[in-house]
Amino acid sequence: MAETPATPSAIPAATVYGYPRQGPDRELKKAVEGYWAGRVTAAELGSTSETLRRDNWRRLADAGVAEVPTGDFSLYDHVLDTTVMVGAIPERHRAAVEADPLDGYFAMARGTQDVAPLEMTKWFDTNYHYLVPELGPGTTFTADPAKQLGELREALALDLEARPVLVGPVTYLLLAKPAPGVDPAFEPLSLLERLLPVYADVLAALRSAGATWVQLDEPALVQDRPRAVLDAVATAYRYLGGLTQRPKLLVATYFDRLGEALPVLADAPVDGLGLDFTGPAATNLDDLTALGGLPGRRLVAGVVDGRNIWINDLERSLTTLTALRDLAARVDVAASCSLLHVPYDAALETEIDPEVARWLAFARQKTAEIVTLARGLAGDDISGELAANQAALRSRATSPLTRVPSVRARAEAVTAADTRRAQPYAERTEAQRTRLGLPPVPTTTIGSFPQTSELRTARADLRAGRIDQAAYDERMEAEIRAVLAFQEEAGLDVLVHGEPERNDMVQYFAEQLDGYVATQHGWVQSYGSRYVRPPILAGDISRPEPMTLRWTTYAQSQTSRPVKGMLTGPVTMLAWSFVRDDQPLADTARQVALALRDEVADLETAGTGVIQVDEPALRETLPLRAADRTAYLAWATEAFRLATAVVRSETQIHTHMCYAEFGEILAAIDDLDADVISLEAARSHMQVAHELAEAGYPREVGPGVYDIHSPRVPSVAEVTSLLRKGLDAIPADRLWANPDCGLKTRGWPEVRASLENLVTAAREIRGEA
Ligand code: GLN
Ligand code: ZN
Repeated sequence: MAETPATPSAIPAATVYGYPRQGPDRELKKAVEGYWAGRVTAAELGSTSETLRRDNWRRLADAGVAEVPTGDFSLYDHVLDTTVMVGAIPERHRAAVEADPLDGYFAMARGTQDVAPLEMTKWFDTNYHYLVPELGPGTTFTADPAKQLGELREALALDLEARPVLVGPVTYLLLAKPAPGVDPAFEPLSLLERLLPVYADVLAALRSAGATWVQLDEPALVQDRPRAVLDAVATAYRYLGGLTQRPKLLVATYFDRLGEALPVLADAPVDGLGLDFTGPAATNLDDLTALGGLPGRRLVAGVVDGRNIWINDLERSLTTLTALRDLAARVDVAASCSLLHVPYDAALETEIDPEVARWLAFARQKTAEIVTLARGLAGDDISGELAANQAALRSRATSPLTRVPSVRARAEAVTAADTRRAQPYAERTEAQRTRLGLPPVPTTTIGSFPQTSELRTARADLRAGRIDQAAYDERMEAEIRAVLAFQEEAGLDVLVHGEPERNDMVQYFAEQLDGYVATQHGWVQSYGSRYVRPPILAGDISRPEPMTLRWTTYAQSQTSRPVKGMLTGPVTMLAWSFVRDDQPLADTARQVALALRDEVADLETAGTGVIQVDEPALRETLPLRAADRTAYLAWATEAFRLATAVVRSETQIHTHMCYAEFGEILAAIDDLDADVISLEAARSHMQVAHELAEAGYPREVGPGVYDIHSPRVPSVAEVTSLLRKGLDAIPADRLWANPDCGLKTRGWPEVRASLENLVTAAREIRGEA
C-alpha cells in the first residue's frame, strides 16, 4: 500500500468495532437453529450469514462509515472463533472438529450427548456470554485464519475499506481458564510467547489478503491488572509491532478507563489506539492529555455509548473530540465498543410513543451519530443535526415521563431509617421462629416451577385474544393449585406459588411499572442463538398497582403452610434492563426500590410471612475497576434494604443469588440485612457455605443442594452428603435445604423426583427418617 499523504489521512473518519450479527429480524437465529434441527443445510446457513454480513457492511458504508469491521460476525461467539483461529481446540472436541468443522464448532459451543461444551461466562460486565477457552501447559497453537480471511475478502470484493477485528492475545489468555485436569493454579497468560507467533501468522495472512489495518481488541486491560500482566502487554505489542510483514495495528480497549495500561500501550510500537470516552471511562481524556497524547498515531475515540440505547449528546461529544484532535495525528470517531450490545434499529419500534422513540438510538442510529460527529470534527456543517439533537435531548429532559414530581419527592425524602429494619437480625430471628414454627434445616424452592408449554400457550392465547383475562387467570390458578399440591405431598416446608404467570423475572415487573418502556424488536444477543429483549428504564419509576399480590394471596389461601412471596430486586431490575443515562444509577435503583417496597408492604399486610427478593445480578454488575466498587455496593445494598426494610420483625426476608463467586461481595451480602439467603452451591460442593462461615456471616443460609442446570436427579445420598458438608459450616438452626435456582427450565418428572429426594434427605439430617 502506498503511504497516504498526511493531510487526507488526517481527516476524521467514522468507524465501528462491530455490528449486531442477528440481522434486522433475527434471521441468523432462525438459520442457526434451523441448522441444528436439520431444516437448514450448511450451505444455506453459509449463504444466510454472508447475506447478513454484506447487508451490514453496505448499511455501514451507505451511512458514511469509512472502514467497515470484518471478522466480528459469528455463528455463535467471537471468543470461540478466536479459539478456532489459534487452534486451541480442547482435546475432547478434536475428533468432532476434524470430522466436520461446523458441527465440531457447535459441539464446542453446546456440547453433545457424550461431550461437555466449553464453559460459558459473562463478557466483562455486559449481558453477552462467551465460551471460555480451556488451556494448559500442553496447549499448542496453530494459525487457522480462514474465517478472518474469508470475511475480509468478502468485504474487499464489495470495494469497501475493511478492518479485520480480532480478540487481542492478552485478552484472549486472560479470559481463558485451566483446562479440565490441569492444575487450577495454571496461568493461561504463561502461554503468551507460544501464542504470539500464531497471531503473527494471522496478521501476515490478513496483510497479504489486503488488510491495511487490523484491530486487536484488548478490553481485559481496563481492569485492575498487576505489573506482570502489564509487562506481558508490553512484550506482546513489542513483538507484534516489531513484525515486518504486518498490517497497521489498532489496539482497541473499551468498557472502562485504560488507567495504568495506557502508558504501556502508548509506549508500544502500534499504530493506533481505541479508547472509550463514555461514562466512567471519560477520564481517559485527562489521562491521555497528561501523557502528551499519541503523536504521529491514530486515535479512535469511542464517544458514542455502545452499550445503551439513548441518543448521544452530540455537542458534548464534539467537545471531547475537539479536545482530542491535537493529541493524535488522526482522530476517528466510533462507539465506545462493538454495537453488538445494542439492538438493530430503533426505527422499527413503531409502537413506542414517538416522543420517547426520538430519544432512542440503536445500532443504526448510533452509526449515523458517529458519522455526523466525524463530519462535524472534520469541519462540515452539522448545525442542522446538532439542533435536532438538542431539541430531542431537551424533550427528554423536560418530559413528564422522565420527571414525575411525586416520584422524585418521595425518593428525596428517603431517610436512613427507611433503609433499616427496626430490630437487628438476632432479635428478628426469634420472632420469625415463633411465627413460622419451621423444623431445623427447613426445605423450600427458589420460586419458579417448570414453565410448561401449556403455560406459554395460555400467555400467547391471552395476547392474541383467543382467551380473555378471566380464562387466563383461571389457568394460572389451576397451575398454582397443582404446584402447591405437589409441594404439600412432597413435604416441603416453605412453599411457593411457582411463578406460572411470569414470562421473565424482569420483564414481568417492567410491564407493570410506570416509567418502563418495552420494545418490539429490541433484541440483543445473550449467547449463541439466544437473544433477549431488555425493557427500557425510560422514565421515573412507580407502581400504579400491586404486581404479585393477587397470585401470592391466592396461593396462601389454598394452603396452611407458609407461601413465600417472590419479587425481583432493584439491582437485578437495572442490570437486565437498559438503564437511564441521564441520572445516576443509584437514583434509578432507589425509585425501583420504592416501588418494590410498596409491593413488599402489601404482601405483608395480606399476611405473607416470608418474602424473597431475588438479586442474582448483585455480583454481575460489580464495576470492572475495584476503585468503583465501594460506591456501587453502597447504593446497591441500600436499594435492597429500602425495598425490604419496611416489614415487621416477624416477617422473614429472603434473598437469592445464582453464581458462586462471592469472595468480594461477602460483606455486601451481609449488608443486605436479609434474614435468609439461598445461593448456588451444588456443583462447587457447598464451598460458598464455608466461605460465608469463615467470613462470620451470622444469618440463615440455603446453599443449593440440587443442581438445576442439569436434568439429572440427585439421589438422597448425594443431597444428604451435601447437607452434611453444609452443616460443617452452618449450624442446623441456620441451614436451609433448597435447589440452586428456580426450576422454570426443568421438566416435571425430574423436578418431582429431585424435590422428593431433597425432602427425604433433609428429614434424614434432622433424624426424622
Ligand atoms: N425466583 C426466580 C426463579 O425461581 C429466581 C431466578 C434466578 O435467580 N435467576 O425463577
Ligand atoms: Zn438463581
